[in-house]
Amino acid sequence: MSGSLEFDVIIIGGGPAGLCAAMYAGRGMLRAVLLERGITGGELLNTELIEDYPGFSSILGPELAQRMTEHAVKFGADIRQENVESIERGEDGVFDVITSLGSRYRAPTVILTAGGTPTKLGVPGEAEYAGRGVSYCAVCDGAFFKGETIAVVGGGDAAVEEADYLTRYAAKVYLIHRRHELRASKILQERLFANPKIEVIWNRRVLELVGGPTGLTAVELEDTVSGERSSLAVTGCFVFIGFQPNSGLIRGHFRHDASGYVITDDRMMTSIPGLFAAGDLRVQLTRQVTTAVGDATTAAIAVEKYLADRRAARD
Ligand SMILES: Cc1cc2nc3c(=O)[nH]c(=O)nc-3n(C[C@H](O)[C@H](O)[C@H](O)COP(=O)(O)OP(=O)(O)OC[C@H]3O[C@@H](n4cnc5c(N)ncnc54)[C@H](O)[C@@H]3O)c2cc1C
Repeated sequence: MSGSLEFDVIIIGGGPAGLCAAMYAGRGMLRAVLLERGITGGELLNTELIEDYPGFSSILGPELAQRMTEHAVKFGADIRQENVESIERGEDGVFDVITSLGSRYRAPTVILTAGGTPTKLGVPGEAEYAGRGVSYCAVCDGAFFKGETIAVVGGGDAAVEEADYLTRYAAKVYLIHRRHELRASKILQERLFANPKIEVIWNRRVLELVGGPTGLTAVELEDTVSGERSSLAVTGCFVFIGFQPNSGLIRGHFRHDASGYVITDDRMMTSIPGLFAAGDLRVQLTRQVTTAVGDATTAAIAVEKYLADRRAARD
């Protein structure tokens, strides 16, 4: 393992939240480092068009990612391509952040912005039509399906709520569920069944997503009881079968909800003093670029105050 690297704050993840935190940390003259396992931009790199980021009525996801990266670098962001393996707070109140290159970064504060990953169906065509009909975010992509016939896959709260939401745009929404009853809460189910634009397709599993040059055209289904196969013509397929927050890096106990989303206070501090969380991996009502950068702004300012208080307590 190489020697330790000392900073005021270590930012983990280079999506919108991490890049925004790095920009603020730079402007706050903090010694900061941002560790990103891949290319900066996070989920923006998997997004075709963003139409709900203030100031940009329409911008390509990768272009917004590039602009955010350049903005952070302009204010001095030190971005390093490293995959973080663990975060642990020592008894001295300083965190050890270990990466797969064997580096040990040390700082009294960490802002964790590692996002999360929507659970995939894992069927042929899913990757090919992602962003061309296949989506994991109704708020983000719903408006692209005005007047069209689409499918939603899942049976929990997210699937049911988003199916209802998508009827604002789509002419018809099929909810495809592999069982004969939904897991979603009763109140959401009642709303779903009362919506004339929604039809539930019970006991069906998605086998394949098919399409052509214009994008998705159909989902191939299998009856989970009879094994019979069928094809459903749709131009959109929204998948809501789970989301895995990347909070497993934290060593030691921290407060989280049943799905692993990190619980913070209103300064974005987790139950571990000095460890802040921002963006998609945090417990919150919605997960958008705007909320990610909002969280990150609060976290970066809160880090400055935390460090000042820490220094004052030691003087
Ligand atoms: C298909 C799709 C379309 C979307 N469309 C929109 C939209 O139109 N409008 C909108 O507002 N929102 C949209 N969203 C949501 C938006 O992209 C997210 O809310 C936002 O990207 C969250 O930012 P984040 O920084 O918290 O996380 P992310 O963007 O997920 O970034 C997390 C970063 O952390 C890195 N990372 C993870 N683990 C490690 C590790 N161990 N070590 C180092 N780095 C790590 C990842 O590589 C990633 O770069 C969309 C999401 C998807 C999936």
